[in-house]
Amino acid sequence: MFTDHPDDTIAAIASAPGGAARGIVRVSGPRAIDCVASLLEAETPSGDLRQASSPRVVPGRLQLTNFASTLPCDVYIWPGVRSYTRQPTVEIHTLGSPPLLSATLGELCGQGARLAKPGEFTLRAFLAGRLDLTQAEAVLGVIDAADRRELDAALVQLAGGLGGALNALRDRLLDLLAHLEAGLDFVEEDIEFINSSRLQAELDESQAIVAGLAERMARRGEALDSARVALVGWPNVGKSSLFNALAGDDRAIVSPQPGATRDYLRAKISLNGVACELIDTAGVETLPADEIGDAAQQASGEQRERARLELFCLDGSRPLNAWEEARLSQSTAADRTLFVVTKADAPRRLVELPGAIETSSATGQGFDALRARIRDALDETLPSDDGIVLSTSIRCRESLRLAAESLGRAEELARLAAGEELVAAELRVALDQLGQVVGAVYTEDVLDRIFSRFCIGK
Ligand code: GDP
Repeated sequence: MFTDHPDDTIAAIASAPGGAARGIVRVSGPRAIDCVASLLEAETPSGDLRQASSPRVVPGRLQLTNFASTLPCDVYIWPGVRSYTRQPTVEIHTLGSPPLLSATLGELCGQGARLAKPGEFTLRAFLAGRLDLTQAEAVLGVIDAADRRELDAALVQLAGGLGGALNALRDRLLDLLAHLEAGLDFVEEDIEFINSSRLQAELDESQAIVAGLAERMARRGEALDSARVALVGWPNVGKSSLFNALAGDDRAIVSPQPGATRDYLRAKISLNGVACELIDTAGVETLPADEIGDAAQQASGEQRERARLELFCLDGSRPLNAWEEARLSQSTAADRTLFVVTKADAPRRLVELPGAIETSSATGQGFDALRARIRDALDETLPSDDGIVLSTSIRCRESLRLAAESLGRAEELARLAAGEELVAAELRVALDQLGQVVGAVYTEDVLDRIFSRFCIGK
């Protein structure tokens, strides 16, 4: 089980894989200091790790078996509960050579530590109450952030933005529940701990807060859809070539035969700090259904539907065909479409299209301008991330919906004076759902799902 053995001493390489100037090995648990002290030759007499009573840095040298000489290091030590995991924690900062870091880890395991599982340091921080579950997810959000926007959202969530609002609401509902339960205890004496108009007002406000949070979660989910960019156009205009050039590889099949791409392809790309998903819709939507599989046509149509921005590609080396003319005449300024002229290196046979971006996948012409235009168009239309990490919004949307429903029912029951016992039951359901969001209520299963997505060492 994921939460088993919280008192084991765990160790892992905490720096990024591969060689670097500096590397970090992190150890946490009751034996962390002993494990490291037995490998360390401190440079100063005051550097005895076992005597440290407050956080400090101790310069020294590592003595590793089978290494001819000792190695320089700085040891960061948190002897008490002021560490990330709230357990004694030590970090060895040394040369970032992978075999050296692995040997250090091996020696620490020889001294009684065990290899940490993915996310186990952050799991301990959560179990020790240092982070709530939304903040733990934000740690992963910071590590995985693909652009500034995602990083900003993760940092807001890490700083307790979301958890703070949820915890304040839970406190409020717990108070309300306490009043109701006290009233139930003294039902014989007819003492009223909260009057019905105050109860209704409280439930009203709480419902509004949950609805607001649920909406923020939903908006965060939309942000993913909104960052989709679809390449559309007649077969053979050069969409796959454009896709490969933008994605920086050649996963799309480029073929002189029209309709070579039978399914859609996607690639995550970053345009000057804005992450988006590029989709090659393969031009299948322009072909008669009997020439292509229905499923491929449908998939392609769906991808276009969900795309926030369309790059409508037109071949610069030939005149417009009837389908293209029809689409151009139907297009309006409200469409989220950028017109892209392809094959600008070939002799020009296409009419001038004001506002279109001229490109050549063969020479790279126009790509900087195209990237900048895509980025600007996305920037205009992207909703803000609103301080919520995507994985949190996906995990918690259902809980917030259920909490909102329970509060709605509680409010109705209060209005109908149906009995405080029933109102209290609904409040308990809402509290349970909100508790799942912050992690005050959790199951092994949920923790497993969240923390197994971390890398080892975090
Ligand atoms: P798709 O069917 O729209 O995906 O088009 P492809 O990317 O498969 O390209 C169709 C044909 O156009 C292939 O023969 C490509 O080599 C050619 N092509 C694509 N881009 C360019 C370009 O920038 N310049 C020239 N001269 N040919 C291109």
